Amino acid sequence: MVISAPSGGGKTVVRSELLKLDRRFVFSVTCTTRPRRPGEVDGKDYYFVTVEKFGKLRKEGKLLEWAKVHGNYYGTPAKSVADALKAGRIPVMTIDVKGARSVKKVFPAAVTVFLLPPDLKTLVQRLRGRGEAPENVAVRLETARAEIKMAAWFDYLVINDRLKEAVLEVAAIADLETRRTGRNLDKVKDFGSQLNGAKGRL
Ligand code: ADP
Ligand code: 5GP
Repeated sequence: MVISAPSGGGKTVVRSELLKLDRRFVFSVTCTTRPRRPGEVDGKDYYFVTVEKFGKLRKEGKLLEWAKVHGNYYGTPAKSVADALKAGRIPVMTIDVKGARSVKKVFPAAVTVFLLPPDLKTLVQRLRGRGEAPENVAVRLETARAEIKMAAWFDYLVINDRLKEAVLEVAAIADLETRRTGRNLDKVKDFGSQLNGAKGRL
């Protein structure tokens, strides 16, 4: 599950509530070359890597996707997503819109969700409330202009007005998506094998 939004749209908080709500969800920790912010933990919030290390990961094909956002490199390690899927869990990626498109291209089974605040006033309030300096707010709003143009491309749109409702909506999307026939053909096949195996005995 890939969640994108303009900066301040609620990706981080929605993700954290989603993980608390249901143990099926697991956060796919991504790599970044940006400096660690106070309170962030390496390996939990991000893998903080040098530009050289990032370049090496990219060249070795270890990133599912990557993008440059606000001057820093970000990328999703393919292994963390593959491990989560193998364990039958739902990897949650909170990445920028370009990254979301790249993931969908290489991995069409991904479900993409665009989070949108109810209005611009709320977005500005939330960015300020997070402690962003006025110049950072301006940069993020400018980027948001391009990002929202890509909203129509996403599978789902969730309006992040009341946090609890937005989280439940994202969880409901995941729930429905896990029930798609195409994701469950192994179960149908298994039932078919049981029927074949029982031929003449029932
Ligand atoms: P992003 O990760 O997309 O940049 P955040 O999750 O950091 O956005 O959210 C930006 C700020 O807005 C944070 O301070 C967060 O706690 C707050 N916020 C997000 N969604 C809501 C909501 N539905 N109601 C109130 N505050 C919210
Ligand atoms: P921040 O530096 O504020 O944590 O994140 C900046 C932006 O980079 C956010 O939109 C965030 O979702 C995005 N981002 C984080 N990790 C990745 C990643 O692995 N790939 C891509 N494409 N974007 C990411």
